[in-house]
Amino acid sequence: MKIAVFSAKRYDRDFLEAANAMQAHQLHFFEVALAPESAALAEGHEAVCVFVNDIVDAAMLEVLQRGGTKLVCLRCTGFNNVDLAAAAKLGIKVVRVVDYSPFSVAEHAVALLLAINRSVHRAYNRTRDSNFSLDGLMGFDFHGKTAAVVGTGKIGRVFARIMLGFGCHVIGYDKFPSAEFEALGARYAEPGEIGASADIISLHCPLTPETYHIVNADSLSRMKRGALLVNTSRGGLVDAEAAIQALKTGQLGGLALDVYEQEAELFFRDLSSTIVTDDVLQRLMAFPNVIVTGHQAFFTREAISTICETTLNSVSEFEAGKPLSNEIKLP
Ligand code: NAD
Repeated sequence: MKIAVFSAKRYDRDFLEAANAMQAHQLHFFEVALAPESAALAEGHEAVCVFVNDIVDAAMLEVLQRGGTKLVCLRCTGFNNVDLAAAAKLGIKVVRVVDYSPFSVAEHAVALLLAINRSVHRAYNRTRDSNFSLDGLMGFDFHGKTAAVVGTGKIGRVFARIMLGFGCHVIGYDKFPSAEFEALGARYAEPGEIGASADIISLHCPLTPETYHIVNADSLSRMKRGALLVNTSRGGLVDAEAAIQALKTGQLGGLALDVYEQEAELFFRDLSSTIVTDDVLQRLMAFPNVIVTGHQAFFTREAISTICETTLNSVSEFEAGKPLSNEIKLP
């Protein structure tokens, strides 16, 4: 099948071509994101393959359908950027990669947490300048502290297992609690208890209308003073301006973000020679106790290779008229 791959980076091309060695799809790579200006590139492609920041709304789906697209493949787990109802109405199937490597994201969340707690980013810069002073670098032991997981799905459970390994008490909140989370030795708690008792909070729930700005001025004010917050899920979960206020007063002790609500205009590009005009992100990055990575939590060899294989398998299933193992159905 002819597949138009949008937001394609070098690594997408390399891993998709490797995965296609056993299949015979025609891959056409476009570095640009799928947007109204670039949608014409999709014409004549039965499948369109997109990533986290490509907006596949109703208007875009209509354009795709007119161009002959029947399948939209997400090279990611989250699908908040796709209008599923519009796709269903237009008869376009949507598939994602449900399960690639929960380890990649959970391990990155822990890497960020350790870095923010022990100021690894600041120590790295200091020692390169022969400054071996420890002032301002003091962290706290994870052992014996309370770590909270919001969204105890695949990634949240791996995160919980790692934190249990540090000797943390792990509590969690999920709209749909699972026995697997409790079987790890963790327990469920209400949001109020999480806010009041967690020293560390890691977000692993999807972005939905219900979870939009789940971290806001009110929930931040109810958190334990000085707690660390990590978001590797979706930027829209955190009200970044409220986080800035909480960081200013010390209510929030540290913030690590792999995702940012306005990331679509910024992430996955080299902007080092331009002026970044996003004042909120710039203010966040000016805090010594904030670390930002550019949506790289998924970025391991194992994850990319599974993402590319699963995506092409979905296309092959579609071509063969088989049921789609990774179809996103309307709830
Ligand atoms: P998952 O579906 O296995 O788990 C999500 C969990 O969130 C589920 O248990 C679900 O019940 C729960 N949930 C749903 N609504 C909720 C609500 N209102 N409140 C609390 N919990 C709720 O998904 P996963 O594979 O663990 O991925 C989690 C998220 O991580 C994805 O939605 C995606 O946004 C994000 N992600 C980020 C990256 C990255 O590179 N940064 C990579 C992959 C996934």
